[in-house]
Amino acid sequence: MELSIGWLYPNLMSTYGDRGNVICLQRRCEWRNINVVVIPLDRTTEADKITLVDLIVGGGAQDRQQEIVMRDLQGTKAETLREKLEQGTPGVFTCGSPQLLGHYYEPALGQRIEGLGLLDLVSKHPGINAPRCIGNLVFEITAEPLATELKKLWGDTPIAIGFENHGGRTYLDTVQPLGKVIQGYGNNGEDGTEGAFYHNAIATYSHGPLLPKNPFIADWLIKTALQKKYQTSIQLSKLDNSLAYAARKAMLQNLGLRNLY
Ligand code: GLN
Repeated sequence: MELSIGWLYPNLMSTYGDRGNVICLQRRCEWRNINVVVIPLDRTTEADKITLVDLIVGGGAQDRQQEIVMRDLQGTKAETLREKLEQGTPGVFTCGSPQLLGHYYEPALGQRIEGLGLLDLVSKHPGINAPRCIGNLVFEITAEPLATELKKLWGDTPIAIGFENHGGRTYLDTVQPLGKVIQGYGNNGEDGTEGAFYHNAIATYSHGPLLPKNPFIADWLIKTALQKKYQTSIQLSKLDNSLAYAARKAMLQNLGLRNLY
């Protein structure tokens, strides 16, 4: 089997280390003898190339880079990406990326950045003097059917552990939250929601990067992408997750969340 991973604007949206999500997906495929190819989706990419990918990863960026990305992600390119996600192509979108998948992002300085309008949410930066949302982030994934599927893969309640660093605050309208905050700010530090989930698109403020410490999410993305591509049920072989378990336990201990491990 083969899997192609589309990586959104790697040179512009990797400020916070989310390339680690791509590496984690690559390794967890290679360890299972799944051929994997990573395709950069950037300013040189024609729209039809976006249709070829099986899974999409988008990382985080500073306001300025987000504005550059959205100047490029227009017209057919934007429509193709929107259609891919509407058709259920799985993806993980971190921080600046989901802000651009919503209706708009109002940065600290400059004009409102119009988004793809795929996710029914808006994001607003409260201004350069407002404190950023920075710190460890722990949340329970509650979005359905994702949470049920993750419980099957992980064998436990899907608690995600990561790190957030954003000035923008995100407010959901009809789109369901990805989860509920246990520790940290999440979408806005007010309503206890974190991220969003739409079809098979995972939107989150959690850097870390997210996937290495939460391998069940990586496996869900791989499994979902392969099932959609090959139109058959896929059972991924088990991998040794002991390092991830150890990292999670250390983080939860540091955060005083002993009841979660
Ligand atoms: N520039 C956006 C903000 O500050 C996104 C930051 C990020 O991607 N970590 O909210």
